[in-house]
Amino acid sequence: MASGKANRGLVILDRDGVINRDSAEFVKTPAEWVPIPGSIEAIASLGKAGYTVTVASNQSGLGRGLFDRRALRAMHRKLRRLASAAGGRVDRIVVCPHGPDNGCACRKPRPGLLRRLGRHYGVDLADIPVIGDSLRDLEAAASVGARPILVRTGNGRKTEKTLHDTFADIEIYDDLAAAASTLVKE
Ligand SMILES: [Mg+2]
Ligand SMILES: [Zn+2]
Repeated sequence: MASGKANRGLVILDRDGVINRDSAEFVKTPAEWVPIPGSIEAIASLGKAGYTVTVASNQSGLGRGLFDRRALRAMHRKLRRLASAAGGRVDRIVVCPHGPDNGCACRKPRPGLLRRLGRHYGVDLADIPVIGDSLRDLEAAASVGARPILVRTGNGRKTEKTLHDTFADIEIYDDLAAAASTLVKE
């Protein structure tokens, strides 16, 4: 932890559609990994406010053979480099490489990725902000008692229209920048 900063705990971000633009053809290379305006600055502002910024991301493109671990690492190096240039930091990134039919425990809406972060940091996930653009992000968050937050980037607008009663009064923001500006003021 940086000195003099209150430790405000984890914030867990989905990646595609929250930090960077999503693509129906998958995001497979650093060139295709394009940040959503304001998202990098939002990560930096969360860090400056004392949050540890982490990422939990379904990456079934790995299991489908659309890109490999090396390409994934290169994309995440780009993310980390941009965050660091903005004065921020991305801490642990966890991914599920499996497809929807794999039956794994980590692919969101299952809670495996979030639990892995909780174990890594030795923290309870209760009320930890989990920011996503898809219903499965919200479901994964709810299943571990975390605090689901929807953003309208990526699939977010579509997701907002299909929210069922469970998420009727969920927090919704236009983008990660707006969500972060609320979190840093709390
Ligand atoms: Mg997403
Ligand atoms: Zn998995």
